[in-house]
Amino acid sequence: MADAADGRTLQECVEGYLFSGLPPRLLILRRPPGRGGFWVPVSGKVEPTDASLEAALRRELAEEAGFADPVRVVPLDWVVEFDPPDGGRRMRLHGFGVETDGEKPPTLSSEHDAFEWVDPEVALARLHYPDNREAVRILLRAIGETGPPRARPGDPGSAARRGAPRAKVLPRFDEELFAAVRSAGHRKIALQVPAGLVRNAHDRAAELRAATGVPVVVVSRACFGACDFPAPEEVPGVDALVVLGHSPIPNVPLWATTYFVEMRYPPGDVERLAERIARAGLPKRVGLVASVQHLDLVAPLTRALAPRGISLVVGTGDRRLAYPAQALGCNYTGAEAIAGDVDAFLFLGTGTFHPIGLAFAVDRPVHAFDPLRGEMSAPIDRAKLIADRLRLVARTMDAKRFGILVSSFAGQERAGMASALIERARRQGREAEILIAARLDPRDLEGRDLDAYVNTACPRIALDDSSLYPRPVLTPPEFLMAIGEVPLTDYRFDTFH
Ligand code: SF4
Repeated sequence: MADAADGRTLQECVEGYLFSGLPPRLLILRRPPGRGGFWVPVSGKVEPTDASLEAALRRELAEEAGFADPVRVVPLDWVVEFDPPDGGRRMRLHGFGVETDGEKPPTLSSEHDAFEWVDPEVALARLHYPDNREAVRILLRAIGETGPPRARPGDPGSAARRGAPRAKVLPRFDEELFAAVRSAGHRKIALQVPAGLVRNAHDRAAELRAATGVPVVVVSRACFGACDFPAPEEVPGVDALVVLGHSPIPNVPLWATTYFVEMRYPPGDVERLAERIARAGLPKRVGLVASVQHLDLVAPLTRALAPRGISLVVGTGDRRLAYPAQALGCNYTGAEAIAGDVDAFLFLGTGTFHPIGLAFAVDRPVHAFDPLRGEMSAPIDRAKLIADRLRLVARTMDAKRFGILVSSFAGQERAGMASALIERARRQGREAEILIAARLDPRDLEGRDLDAYVNTACPRIALDDSSLYPRPVLTPPEFLMAIGEVPLTDYRFDTFH
Protein backbone atom coordinates (compact mmCIF):
# COMPACT_ATOMS: atom_id res chain seq x y z
CA MET A 1 0.00 0.00 0.00
CA ALA A 2 1.20 3.56 -0.70
CA ASP A 3 -0.16 7.08 -0.82
CA ALA A 4 -1.42 8.85 -3.92
CA ALA A 5 -0.50 12.45 -4.60
CA ASP A 6 -3.83 13.55 -3.10
CA GLY A 7 -3.07 11.70 0.15
CA ARG A 8 -5.44 8.75 -0.47
CA THR A 9 -4.24 5.17 0.07
CA LEU A 10 -3.32 3.35 -3.10
CA GLN A 11 -3.87 -0.31 -3.88
CA GLU A 12 -0.82 -1.62 -5.75
CA CYS A 13 -1.64 -4.02 -8.61
CA VAL A 14 0.37 -5.98 -11.17
CA GLU A 15 -0.33 -6.95 -14.76
CA GLY A 16 1.44 -9.64 -16.75
CA TYR A 17 1.60 -9.57 -20.55
CA LEU A 18 2.51 -13.12 -21.48
CA PHE A 19 4.38 -13.63 -24.71
CA SER A 20 6.14 -16.42 -26.51
CA GLY A 21 8.54 -16.61 -29.44
CA LEU A 22 10.00 -14.02 -31.79
CA PRO A 23 8.18 -12.41 -33.45
CA PRO A 24 6.10 -12.71 -30.29
CA ARG A 25 2.59 -13.99 -29.77
CA LEU A 26 0.63 -12.82 -26.77
CA LEU A 27 -1.78 -14.50 -24.39
CA ILE A 28 -5.04 -12.67 -23.79
CA LEU A 29 -7.81 -13.75 -21.41
CA ARG A 30 -11.52 -13.06 -21.64
CA ARG A 31 -13.60 -12.06 -18.64
CA PRO A 32 -16.97 -13.82 -18.35
CA PRO A 33 -20.09 -11.89 -19.49
CA GLY A 34 -20.96 -10.95 -15.90
CA ARG A 35 -17.61 -9.19 -15.60
CA GLY A 36 -17.69 -7.36 -18.92
CA GLY A 37 -16.91 -10.15 -21.39
CA PHE A 38 -13.85 -8.33 -22.68
CA TRP A 39 -10.19 -9.25 -23.18
CA VAL A 40 -7.53 -8.46 -20.61
CA PRO A 41 -4.05 -9.55 -19.52
CA VAL A 42 -3.28 -11.42 -16.28
CA SER A 43 -3.74 -8.97 -13.41
CA GLY A 44 -4.26 -8.83 -9.69
CA LYS A 45 -3.77 -6.94 -6.45
CA VAL A 46 -0.53 -7.01 -4.49
CA GLU A 47 -1.16 -8.78 -1.19
CA PRO A 48 0.50 -7.78 2.12
CA THR A 49 2.26 -11.17 2.07
CA ASP A 50 3.92 -10.53 -1.32
CA ALA A 51 7.61 -9.76 -0.84
CA SER A 52 7.77 -7.59 -3.99
CA LEU A 53 5.83 -6.57 -7.08
CA GLU A 54 7.45 -9.40 -9.03
CA ALA A 55 6.53 -11.87 -6.30
CA ALA A 56 2.92 -10.67 -6.57
CA LEU A 57 3.06 -11.07 -10.33
CA ARG A 58 4.39 -14.62 -10.07
CA ARG A 59 1.64 -15.52 -7.60
CA GLU A 60 -1.04 -14.08 -9.91
CA LEU A 61 0.44 -15.93 -12.89
CA ALA A 62 0.12 -19.20 -11.02
CA GLU A 63 -3.37 -18.47 -9.64
CA GLU A 64 -4.98 -16.93 -12.74
CA ALA A 65 -3.28 -18.86 -15.51
CA GLY A 66 -1.44 -21.81 -14.01
CA PHE A 67 1.97 -20.56 -15.20
CA ALA A 68 4.46 -21.29 -12.42
CA ASP A 69 7.72 -21.14 -14.32
CA PRO A 70 8.16 -18.26 -16.81
CA VAL A 71 11.31 -18.09 -18.93
CA ARG A 72 11.86 -14.46 -17.91
CA VAL A 73 10.04 -11.48 -16.46
CA VAL A 74 10.55 -8.12 -18.19
CA PRO A 75 9.68 -5.04 -16.06
CA LEU A 76 8.01 -2.55 -18.41
CA ASP A 77 8.67 0.53 -16.29
CA TRP A 78 5.04 1.27 -16.98
CA VAL A 79 2.85 2.48 -14.15
CA VAL A 80 -0.68 3.84 -14.38
CA GLU A 81 -3.11 4.99 -11.70
CA PHE A 82 -6.88 4.91 -11.96
CA ASP A 83 -10.07 4.95 -9.90
CA PRO A 84 -12.03 1.68 -10.19
CA PRO A 85 -15.63 1.97 -11.46
CA ASP A 86 -16.99 0.50 -8.19
CA GLY A 87 -15.64 3.55 -6.31
CA GLY A 88 -13.13 1.51 -4.33
CA ARG A 89 -9.58 2.43 -3.47
CA ARG A 90 -7.51 4.09 -6.18
CA MET A 91 -5.34 1.56 -8.03
CA ARG A 92 -1.76 1.74 -9.23
CA LEU A 93 -0.84 -0.79 -11.92
CA HIS A 94 2.66 -2.05 -12.64
CA GLY A 95 3.14 -3.81 -15.98
CA PHE A 96 5.47 -6.73 -16.71
CA GLY A 97 6.21 -8.75 -19.83
CA VAL A 98 6.35 -12.46 -19.09
CA GLU A 99 8.01 -14.80 -21.56
CA THR A 100 6.75 -18.38 -21.56
CA ASP A 101 8.19 -21.52 -23.03
CA GLY A 102 5.85 -21.93 -26.03
CA GLU A 103 2.16 -21.14 -26.47
CA LYS A 104 0.92 -23.27 -23.61
CA PRO A 105 -2.78 -23.22 -22.75
CA PRO A 106 -3.36 -21.52 -19.39
CA THR A 107 -5.35 -23.10 -16.59
CA LEU A 108 -8.22 -20.66 -16.36
CA SER A 109 -9.56 -19.51 -12.99
CA SER A 110 -13.14 -18.34 -12.47
CA GLU A 111 -12.00 -14.84 -13.44
CA HIS A 112 -11.81 -15.77 -17.14
CA ASP A 113 -13.82 -17.95 -19.48
CA ALA A 114 -11.59 -18.07 -22.58
CA PHE A 115 -8.05 -17.48 -23.73
CA GLU A 116 -6.18 -17.06 -27.00
CA TRP A 117 -2.61 -16.79 -28.13
CA VAL A 118 -2.66 -14.06 -30.74
CA ASP A 119 -0.42 -11.88 -32.85
CA PRO A 120 0.37 -8.46 -31.35
CA GLU A 121 -1.96 -6.79 -33.86
CA VAL A 122 -4.86 -8.86 -32.68
CA ALA A 123 -4.00 -8.23 -29.03
CA LEU A 124 -3.89 -4.50 -29.75
CA ALA A 125 -7.28 -4.68 -31.39
CA ARG A 126 -8.94 -6.82 -28.74
CA LEU A 127 -7.61 -5.62 -25.41
CA HIS A 128 -10.36 -3.57 -23.89
CA TYR A 129 -8.52 -0.88 -21.96
CA PRO A 130 -6.32 1.72 -23.72
CA ASP A 131 -3.79 1.27 -20.88
CA ASN A 132 -3.49 -2.41 -21.74
CA ARG A 133 -2.85 -1.59 -25.37
CA GLU A 134 -0.23 0.96 -24.42
CA ALA A 135 1.51 -1.64 -22.22
CA VAL A 136 1.63 -4.05 -25.19
CA ARG A 137 3.28 -1.37 -27.32
CA ILE A 138 5.84 -0.79 -24.56
CA LEU A 139 6.45 -4.54 -24.31
CA LEU A 140 7.03 -4.82 -28.07
CA ARG A 141 9.57 -2.03 -27.87
CA ALA A 142 11.20 -3.59 -24.79
CA ILE A 143 11.77 -6.90 -26.55
CA GLY A 144 12.81 -5.30 -29.83
CA GLU A 145 9.60 -6.03 -31.72
CA THR A 146 8.11 -2.78 -32.84
CA GLY A 147 6.02 -4.18 -35.65
CA PRO A 148 3.03 -6.46 -35.47
CA PRO A 149 2.31 -9.88 -36.68
CA ARG A 150 3.01 -12.56 -39.14
CA ALA A 151 1.22 -15.60 -40.40
CA ARG A 152 1.12 -18.35 -37.82
CA PRO A 153 3.66 -21.16 -37.93
CA GLY A 154 2.32 -23.89 -40.16
CA ASP A 155 0.10 -21.60 -42.21
CA PRO A 156 0.41 -21.88 -45.96
CA GLY A 157 3.37 -19.82 -47.13
CA SER A 158 4.13 -18.96 -43.52
CA ALA A 159 5.87 -15.65 -43.05
CA ALA A 160 6.76 -16.55 -39.48
CA ARG A 161 10.24 -15.18 -39.57
CA ARG A 162 11.83 -11.94 -38.55
CA GLY A 163 11.54 -9.27 -41.23
CA ALA A 164 8.52 -10.84 -42.97
CA PRO A 165 5.78 -8.45 -44.16
CA ARG A 166 3.37 -7.52 -41.42
CA ALA A 167 -0.31 -6.78 -41.11
CA LYS A 168 -1.01 -3.53 -39.31
CA VAL A 169 -4.56 -3.08 -38.11
CA LEU A 170 -6.13 0.35 -37.65
CA PRO A 171 -9.71 1.00 -36.58
CA ARG A 172 -10.26 4.04 -38.77
CA PHE A 173 -8.81 6.09 -41.63
CA ASP A 174 -7.31 8.82 -39.47
CA GLU A 175 -4.17 10.25 -37.94
CA GLU A 176 -3.23 6.94 -36.29
CA LEU A 177 -2.87 5.43 -39.78
CA PHE A 178 -1.04 8.44 -41.16
CA ALA A 179 1.45 8.43 -38.26
CA ALA A 180 2.15 4.72 -38.75
CA VAL A 181 2.74 5.23 -42.48
CA ARG A 182 4.97 8.25 -41.89
CA SER A 183 7.15 6.46 -39.35
CA ALA A 184 7.57 3.39 -41.59
CA GLY A 185 9.21 5.41 -44.40
CA HIS A 186 7.51 3.70 -47.35
CA ARG A 187 8.47 4.51 -50.96
CA LYS A 188 5.06 4.10 -52.54
CA ILE A 189 1.66 2.92 -51.33
CA ALA A 190 -1.23 1.23 -53.12
CA LEU A 191 -4.71 2.02 -51.78
CA GLN A 192 -7.46 -0.54 -52.35
CA VAL A 193 -11.08 -0.11 -51.32
CA PRO A 194 -14.21 -2.30 -51.46
CA ALA A 195 -16.84 -1.55 -54.08
CA GLY A 196 -18.99 0.31 -51.54
CA LEU A 197 -16.21 2.85 -50.87
CA VAL A 198 -15.07 3.44 -54.47
CA ARG A 199 -16.81 6.80 -54.63
CA ASN A 200 -14.48 8.27 -51.98
CA ALA A 201 -11.33 6.37 -52.98
CA HIS A 202 -9.68 9.34 -54.66
CA ASP A 203 -10.40 11.73 -51.79
CA ARG A 204 -8.91 9.14 -49.43
CA ALA A 205 -5.83 8.78 -51.65
CA ALA A 206 -5.34 12.56 -51.70
CA GLU A 207 -5.73 12.71 -47.92
CA LEU A 208 -3.21 9.90 -47.40
CA ARG A 209 -0.74 11.52 -49.80
CA ALA A 210 -1.04 14.92 -48.12
CA ALA A 211 -0.80 13.55 -44.58
CA THR A 212 2.18 11.28 -45.16
CA GLY A 213 4.11 12.75 -48.09
CA VAL A 214 4.24 9.25 -49.63
CA PRO A 215 3.15 8.68 -53.27
CA VAL A 216 -0.17 6.80 -53.40
CA VAL A 217 -1.69 4.87 -56.31
CA VAL A 218 -5.29 3.68 -56.31
CA VAL A 219 -5.95 0.05 -57.27
CA SER A 220 -8.80 0.15 -59.78
CA ARG A 221 -9.93 -3.36 -58.86
CA ALA A 222 -12.17 -3.18 -55.78
CA CYS A 223 -11.50 -5.78 -53.08
CA PHE A 224 -14.20 -8.18 -51.92
CA GLY A 225 -12.24 -9.29 -48.87
CA ALA A 226 -8.80 -9.39 -47.31
CA CYS A 227 -8.24 -12.36 -49.61
CA ASP A 228 -7.84 -10.50 -52.91
CA PHE A 229 -5.44 -7.63 -52.28
CA PRO A 230 -3.26 -6.78 -55.30
CA ALA A 231 -0.32 -9.00 -56.25
CA PRO A 232 3.14 -7.34 -56.61
CA GLU A 233 2.91 -7.32 -60.42
CA GLU A 234 -0.35 -5.33 -60.28
CA VAL A 235 1.28 -2.49 -58.34
CA PRO A 236 4.93 -2.13 -59.48
CA GLY A 237 7.19 -0.09 -57.22
CA VAL A 238 4.79 -0.32 -54.28
CA ASP A 239 6.17 -1.42 -50.91
CA ALA A 240 3.03 -1.12 -48.76
CA LEU A 241 -0.71 -1.63 -49.18
CA VAL A 242 -3.56 0.19 -47.47
CA VAL A 243 -6.75 -1.87 -47.61
CA LEU A 244 -9.98 -0.27 -46.39
CA GLY A 245 -12.94 -2.04 -44.85
CA HIS A 246 -11.40 -5.40 -44.00
CA SER A 247 -9.56 -7.05 -41.14
CA PRO A 248 -6.58 -9.26 -41.93
CA ILE A 249 -7.19 -12.95 -42.56
CA PRO A 250 -4.58 -14.38 -40.16
CA ASN A 251 -3.63 -17.38 -42.27
CA VAL A 252 -3.26 -15.51 -45.57
CA PRO A 253 0.41 -14.61 -46.21
CA LEU A 254 1.31 -11.02 -47.12
CA TRP A 255 3.97 -9.88 -49.57
CA ALA A 256 4.23 -6.29 -48.31
CA THR A 257 3.42 -4.37 -45.16
CA THR A 258 -0.36 -4.14 -45.32
CA TYR A 259 -2.43 -1.65 -43.34
CA PHE A 260 -5.90 -3.05 -42.76
CA VAL A 261 -8.15 -0.11 -41.94
CA GLU A 262 -11.24 -1.79 -40.55
CA MET A 263 -13.48 1.31 -40.70
CA ARG A 264 -15.07 0.49 -37.37
CA TYR A 265 -18.15 2.28 -36.16
CA PRO A 266 -18.35 3.41 -32.54
CA PRO A 267 -21.09 1.51 -30.63
CA GLY A 268 -23.50 4.50 -30.63
CA ASP A 269 -26.60 4.61 -28.43
CA VAL A 270 -26.42 1.03 -27.17
CA GLU A 271 -29.48 1.23 -24.92
CA ARG A 272 -31.65 2.41 -27.81
CA LEU A 273 -30.35 -0.37 -30.07
CA ALA A 274 -30.86 -2.98 -27.33
CA GLU A 275 -34.44 -1.80 -26.84
CA ARG A 276 -35.19 -2.23 -30.55
CA ILE A 277 -33.63 -5.69 -30.64
CA ALA A 278 -35.48 -6.75 -27.50
CA ARG A 279 -38.80 -5.80 -29.15
CA ALA A 280 -38.17 -8.23 -32.03
CA GLY A 281 -39.18 -11.28 -29.97
CA LEU A 282 -35.88 -13.17 -30.16
CA PRO A 283 -35.42 -16.35 -28.12
CA LYS A 284 -33.50 -16.23 -24.83
CA ARG A 285 -30.17 -17.57 -26.07
CA VAL A 286 -28.91 -16.01 -29.28
CA GLY A 287 -25.60 -16.42 -31.10
CA LEU A 288 -24.07 -13.10 -32.10
CA VAL A 289 -22.19 -12.53 -35.36
CA ALA A 290 -20.97 -9.17 -36.60
CA SER A 291 -19.25 -7.60 -39.55
CA VAL A 292 -15.87 -6.18 -38.57
CA GLN A 293 -17.26 -2.62 -38.72
CA HIS A 294 -19.63 -3.37 -35.83
CA LEU A 295 -17.45 -5.57 -33.60
CA ASP A 296 -17.09 -2.75 -31.05
CA LEU A 297 -20.82 -3.08 -30.40
CA VAL A 298 -20.59 -6.74 -29.35
CA ALA A 299 -19.55 -6.32 -25.69
CA PRO A 300 -21.80 -3.34 -24.79
CA LEU A 301 -24.79 -4.86 -26.57
CA THR A 302 -24.29 -8.14 -24.72
CA ARG A 303 -24.37 -6.21 -21.44
CA ALA A 304 -27.40 -4.16 -22.47
CA LEU A 305 -29.49 -7.14 -23.61
CA ALA A 306 -28.84 -9.31 -20.53
CA PRO A 307 -31.29 -7.41 -18.27
CA ARG A 308 -33.83 -7.57 -21.12
CA GLY A 309 -33.79 -11.38 -20.96
CA ILE A 310 -31.62 -12.06 -24.01
CA SER A 311 -28.31 -13.82 -23.50
CA LEU A 312 -25.93 -13.23 -26.40
CA VAL A 313 -23.33 -15.93 -27.06
CA VAL A 314 -20.17 -15.34 -29.06
CA GLY A 315 -18.11 -18.04 -30.74
CA THR A 316 -14.46 -18.12 -31.73
CA GLY A 317 -13.76 -19.37 -35.21
CA ASP A 318 -10.77 -20.89 -36.93
CA ARG A 319 -7.57 -19.26 -38.17
CA ARG A 320 -9.27 -17.48 -41.05
CA LEU A 321 -11.03 -15.18 -38.56
CA ALA A 322 -9.16 -12.50 -36.61
CA TYR A 323 -11.80 -11.93 -33.91
CA PRO A 324 -14.50 -13.78 -31.95
CA ALA A 325 -18.01 -12.97 -33.26
CA GLN A 326 -16.53 -12.04 -36.61
CA ALA A 327 -17.73 -13.58 -39.85
CA LEU A 328 -16.42 -13.70 -43.38
CA GLY A 329 -18.70 -14.52 -46.29
CA CYS A 330 -16.76 -17.77 -46.65
CA ASN A 331 -16.30 -18.62 -42.98
CA TYR A 332 -18.83 -18.77 -40.15
CA THR A 333 -16.83 -21.17 -37.97
CA GLY A 334 -17.30 -18.95 -34.91
CA ALA A 335 -21.08 -19.29 -35.27
CA GLU A 336 -20.84 -23.00 -36.05
CA ALA A 337 -18.90 -23.51 -32.80
CA ILE A 338 -21.85 -22.29 -30.69
CA ALA A 339 -24.81 -23.30 -32.88
CA GLY A 340 -25.69 -26.16 -30.52
CA ASP A 341 -25.95 -23.74 -27.59
CA VAL A 342 -28.33 -21.18 -29.09
CA ASP A 343 -31.84 -21.04 -30.54
CA ALA A 344 -31.19 -18.35 -33.16
CA PHE A 345 -28.49 -16.05 -34.51
CA LEU A 346 -28.37 -12.28 -34.66
CA PHE A 347 -26.17 -10.61 -37.25
CA LEU A 348 -25.00 -7.02 -36.68
CA GLY A 349 -24.28 -5.24 -39.93
CA THR A 350 -25.76 -4.00 -43.17
CA GLY A 351 -27.15 -5.85 -46.18
CA THR A 352 -28.04 -9.50 -46.71
CA PHE A 353 -24.65 -10.91 -47.74
CA HIS A 354 -23.67 -12.18 -44.30
CA PRO A 355 -27.14 -13.19 -43.11
CA ILE A 356 -27.47 -15.37 -46.22
CA GLY A 357 -24.04 -16.96 -45.69
CA LEU A 358 -24.82 -17.52 -42.04
CA ALA A 359 -28.13 -19.17 -42.90
CA PHE A 360 -26.32 -21.57 -45.23
CA ALA A 361 -23.79 -22.40 -42.51
CA VAL A 362 -26.00 -22.91 -39.42
CA ASP A 363 -29.34 -24.62 -39.04
CA ARG A 364 -30.85 -21.91 -36.85
CA PRO A 365 -33.09 -18.90 -37.63
CA VAL A 366 -30.93 -15.95 -38.69
CA HIS A 367 -32.05 -12.41 -37.82
CA ALA A 368 -30.20 -9.35 -39.06
CA PHE A 369 -30.02 -6.01 -37.29
CA ASP A 370 -28.63 -2.92 -38.98
CA PRO A 371 -27.10 -0.80 -36.17
CA LEU A 372 -26.89 2.27 -38.39
CA ARG A 373 -30.59 2.31 -39.22
CA GLY A 374 -31.67 0.61 -35.99
CA GLU A 375 -33.74 -1.83 -38.09
CA MET A 376 -34.34 -5.55 -37.77
CA SER A 377 -34.95 -7.57 -40.97
CA ALA A 378 -37.20 -10.58 -41.41
CA PRO A 379 -35.42 -13.92 -40.73
CA ILE A 380 -33.68 -15.52 -43.71
CA ASP A 381 -35.53 -18.45 -45.32
CA ARG A 382 -32.84 -21.13 -45.05
CA ALA A 383 -35.05 -23.89 -46.46
CA LYS A 384 -35.55 -21.96 -49.69
CA LEU A 385 -31.85 -21.17 -50.06
CA ILE A 386 -30.95 -24.82 -49.80
CA ALA A 387 -33.84 -26.01 -51.96
CA ASP A 388 -32.65 -23.69 -54.76
CA ARG A 389 -29.12 -25.08 -54.50
CA LEU A 390 -30.34 -28.67 -54.49
CA ARG A 391 -32.30 -28.00 -57.68
CA LEU A 392 -29.06 -26.85 -59.30
CA VAL A 393 -27.26 -29.94 -58.03
CA ALA A 394 -30.00 -32.13 -59.50
CA ARG A 395 -29.53 -30.44 -62.90
CA THR A 396 -25.83 -31.36 -62.93
CA MET A 397 -26.11 -34.99 -61.86
CA ASP A 398 -25.77 -36.14 -65.45
CA ALA A 399 -22.91 -33.76 -66.30
CA LYS A 400 -19.93 -35.52 -67.87
CA ARG A 401 -17.33 -32.75 -68.09
CA PHE A 402 -16.59 -30.31 -65.27
CA GLY A 403 -14.38 -27.24 -65.17
CA ILE A 404 -12.75 -26.82 -61.76
CA LEU A 405 -12.28 -23.09 -61.15
CA VAL A 406 -9.17 -22.02 -59.22
CA SER A 407 -8.21 -18.49 -58.21
CA SER A 408 -4.59 -17.39 -57.89
CA PHE A 409 -5.41 -14.73 -55.26
CA ALA A 410 -3.35 -15.39 -52.11
CA GLY A 411 -6.45 -15.78 -49.96
CA GLN A 412 -8.66 -17.68 -52.42
CA GLU A 413 -6.32 -20.29 -53.81
CA ARG A 414 -7.34 -23.92 -53.20
CA ALA A 415 -5.35 -25.70 -55.93
CA GLY A 416 -4.85 -28.75 -53.68
CA MET A 417 -8.59 -29.10 -53.28
CA ALA A 418 -9.05 -28.74 -57.05
CA SER A 419 -6.66 -31.64 -57.70
CA ALA A 420 -8.51 -33.77 -55.16
CA LEU A 421 -11.84 -32.96 -56.88
CA ILE A 422 -10.44 -34.09 -60.22
CA GLU A 423 -9.57 -37.44 -58.65
CA ARG A 424 -13.06 -37.76 -57.18
CA ALA A 425 -14.61 -36.94 -60.58
CA ARG A 426 -12.53 -39.58 -62.32
CA ARG A 427 -13.48 -42.18 -59.73
CA GLN A 428 -17.11 -41.53 -60.63
CA GLY A 429 -16.49 -41.80 -64.37
CA ARG A 430 -16.54 -38.03 -65.07
CA GLU A 431 -13.99 -35.74 -66.66
CA ALA A 432 -12.68 -32.63 -64.98
CA GLU A 433 -10.16 -29.93 -65.84
CA ILE A 434 -8.71 -27.02 -63.87
CA LEU A 435 -9.23 -23.45 -65.13
CA ILE A 436 -7.13 -20.88 -63.35
CA ALA A 437 -7.45 -17.08 -63.10
CA ALA A 438 -6.98 -14.38 -60.47
CA ARG A 439 -10.52 -12.97 -60.55
CA LEU A 440 -13.10 -15.20 -62.23
CA ASP A 441 -15.03 -13.60 -65.07
CA PRO A 442 -18.17 -15.28 -66.46
CA ARG A 443 -17.27 -14.07 -69.97
CA ASP A 444 -14.13 -16.23 -69.89
CA LEU A 445 -16.28 -19.33 -69.57
CA GLU A 446 -18.46 -18.66 -72.63
CA GLY A 447 -18.33 -21.16 -75.51
CA ARG A 448 -16.53 -23.94 -73.66
CA ASP A 449 -17.37 -27.59 -74.09
CA LEU A 450 -18.00 -28.13 -70.40
CA ASP A 451 -21.28 -29.11 -68.73
CA ALA A 452 -20.79 -27.48 -65.34
CA TYR A 453 -18.24 -25.79 -63.08
CA VAL A 454 -17.01 -26.34 -59.56
CA ASN A 455 -15.71 -23.23 -57.89
CA THR A 456 -12.82 -23.56 -55.42
CA ALA A 457 -12.27 -19.75 -55.21
CA CYS A 458 -14.52 -17.52 -53.12
CA PRO A 459 -17.50 -19.74 -52.17
CA ARG A 460 -19.90 -16.86 -52.65
CA ILE A 461 -19.29 -16.85 -56.40
CA ALA A 462 -21.23 -20.09 -56.67
CA LEU A 463 -23.88 -19.17 -54.12
CA ASP A 464 -24.57 -15.56 -55.10
CA ASP A 465 -23.45 -15.17 -58.72
CA SER A 466 -24.24 -18.53 -60.28
CA SER A 467 -26.87 -16.99 -62.55
CA LEU A 468 -24.19 -14.85 -64.26
CA TYR A 469 -22.39 -17.94 -65.54
CA PRO A 470 -23.24 -19.80 -68.76
CA ARG A 471 -23.38 -23.19 -66.98
CA PRO A 472 -24.21 -24.25 -63.41
CA VAL A 473 -21.50 -23.38 -60.88
CA LEU A 474 -21.37 -25.65 -57.82
CA THR A 475 -19.47 -25.46 -54.56
CA PRO A 476 -17.17 -28.43 -53.81
CA PRO A 477 -19.63 -30.03 -51.31
CA GLU A 478 -22.42 -29.64 -53.89
CA PHE A 479 -20.20 -31.25 -56.53
CA LEU A 480 -19.75 -34.32 -54.30
CA MET A 481 -23.56 -34.54 -54.13
CA ALA A 482 -23.86 -34.19 -57.92
CA ILE A 483 -21.47 -37.08 -58.60
CA GLY A 484 -23.19 -39.26 -56.00
CA GLU A 485 -20.50 -39.32 -53.30
CA VAL A 486 -22.59 -37.49 -50.69
CA PRO A 487 -26.38 -37.85 -50.15
CA LEU A 488 -28.61 -34.91 -51.07
CA THR A 489 -29.85 -34.82 -47.50
CA ASP A 490 -26.39 -33.80 -46.25
CA TYR A 491 -26.11 -30.19 -47.48
CA ARG A 492 -22.98 -28.41 -46.25
CA PHE A 493 -21.78 -24.83 -46.61
CA ASP A 494 -18.45 -24.53 -48.43
CA THR A 495 -16.39 -23.16 -45.54
CA PHE A 496 -13.05 -21.68 -46.60
CA HIS A 497 -10.64 -22.53 -43.76
S1 SF4 B 1 -13.18 -15.67 -50.11
FE1 SF4 B 1 -15.00 -14.43 -50.60
S2 SF4 B 1 -16.19 -14.35 -48.76
FE2 SF4 B 1 -14.13 -15.04 -48.19
S3 SF4 B 1 -13.03 -13.18 -47.61
FE3 SF4 B 1 -12.65 -13.51 -49.77
S4 SF4 B 1 -14.25 -12.34 -50.86
FE4 SF4 B 1 -14.88 -12.54 -48.72
